[in-house]
Amino acid sequence: MVNKFDSDVIVVGAGPAGISAAITVADAGKHVVLIERASYPGSKNMYGGAIYTKALRDVFRDDFNSIPYERIINSHTWSFLTQESSFDLTYKNSFSKSAYAIKRFNLEAWMIEIAKKRGVYYIPNTLVKSLIKENGAVAGIKTELEEYYAPITIIADGVNSLLARDLGLRKDYDKHDIILSAKETIKLDKKTIESRFNLSDDLSNGANKLYFGSNFGKLKEYKNLFMMSFLYTFKDTVMLGVGANLEDLSKNKLNINDILDEIKKHPDILPLIQGGETIEYSAHLIPEGGYKKMPKLVSSGVIIAGDAAGFVNGVHFEGTNFALISGKLAGETARCALEKNDFTKKTLSLYGKKLNNSFILKDLYSYRNIIRELYKRSNSIEYYYPKKIKEFFEIITSANCVSKSSQFRAFIFNFIKERKISELFKDIFAFVKIGCDILFGK
Ligand SMILES: Cc1cc2nc3c(=O)[nH]c(=O)nc-3n(C[C@H](O)[C@H](O)[C@H](O)COP(=O)(O)OP(=O)(O)OC[C@H]3O[C@@H](n4cnc5c(N)ncnc54)[C@H](O)[C@@H]3O)c2cc1C
Repeated sequence: MVNKFDSDVIVVGAGPAGISAAITVADAGKHVVLIERASYPGSKNMYGGAIYTKALRDVFRDDFNSIPYERIINSHTWSFLTQESSFDLTYKNSFSKSAYAIKRFNLEAWMIEIAKKRGVYYIPNTLVKSLIKENGAVAGIKTELEEYYAPITIIADGVNSLLARDLGLRKDYDKHDIILSAKETIKLDKKTIESRFNLSDDLSNGANKLYFGSNFGKLKEYKNLFMMSFLYTFKDTVMLGVGANLEDLSKNKLNINDILDEIKKHPDILPLIQGGETIEYSAHLIPEGGYKKMPKLVSSGVIIAGDAAGFVNGVHFEGTNFALISGKLAGETARCALEKNDFTKKTLSLYGKKLNNSFILKDLYSYRNIIRELYKRSNSIEYYYPKKIKEFFEIITSANCVSKSSQFRAFIFNFIKERKISELFKDIFAFVKIGCDILFGK
């Protein structure tokens, strides 16, 4: 026999988007059920390590202060790697508190406790199998043994979002719109992390490193491989991961784990993780289609939020903030619809207006071409310029008894000789285009 339950709103998926949506609905005194397939919150979820405090404060308000973070991330390094060298740009502001390092299972467990306190009815360990449709509108969801009915369902089931796909709101992703990422959690002594990353011992400092360049180790064999690696410091662990486009991986017949193994051996990275023990491994997809591949965001009785809607800015590693705020806006839209007792697509389209007025659609719009442009110029970013930066700094740093003017002349001469002028213009054009898109976006 199938058990049937009624509520005002059903939320599918207890990641940042779903929890934020559920809290927003519960704050209005409405009955909301939040259904999660994992038995332990956060155990199915993955990220690099930075959660952004502005979005957290917006959703959790005073409860925000109890967040069990491990470090405040306020040192950011962008590093360009070649075979034996690296060129780093570091920005450090010891007083900045805009991002925290917190493990996902601690983050989700904390968020769930607050959600329950604020009145959300949380149902873990339950897979939503399908949506129930009545009279052309979504009227609830089905699990293995139960049916839950509500006039609004918020779909926040992450990047794969089978529910949005089944409903026809979203197409299958193209391979080039998806990043596959693998990550290891490496245990190290707290003091070792602080000395290796130049951090204070009171956890008020944390580091985040982003690596570009794949012209080293075995990766040298693969051309046009665009990848980004990251390293985040936690209290007594570091997280090292890498993401690459599914299309690149399949074209090059490359396994993401093999890339991660090569990265671990790079002379700039190895000393940072040496002696550490890998205590966790995970892999996950990231949607990168952005503005151009956005699904339909609402239909009668249903709203989509977070990764399920493709709300990620991969360039800046921002996803949790998009999830938290889109969840909040979905929750606010559900509240309005409940007040009006109108759950049609037309009423729920308020969600689109709210997203348009927020940073979410503004950023997705201004970054709509960037990832594709970066892929097109991947050879320049991953191989050519890191190599040139290395050659430039070799001139500056090695006292090799050759006159500097002749070395600089040779450098410029080789640059002009090696680099086809058309490629140089394409690079310049791409970066001007990226700059204009960002500056003159929405
Ligand atoms: C390698 C990597 C690094 C990243 N680094 C960062 C970073 O540093 N900072 C940042 O802000 N973002 C980062 N992101 C992005 C960020 O993790 C996501 O954007 C964010 O988690 C999206 O939240 P969400 O709630 O939409 O989806 P998710 O967090 O994926 O949550 C979806 C939930 O739905 C559940 N679910 C799915 N299907 C069902 C179903 N049928 N029934 C019931 N439950 C279901 C899942 O179990 C899951 O708990 C990173 C992502 C990756 C992969």
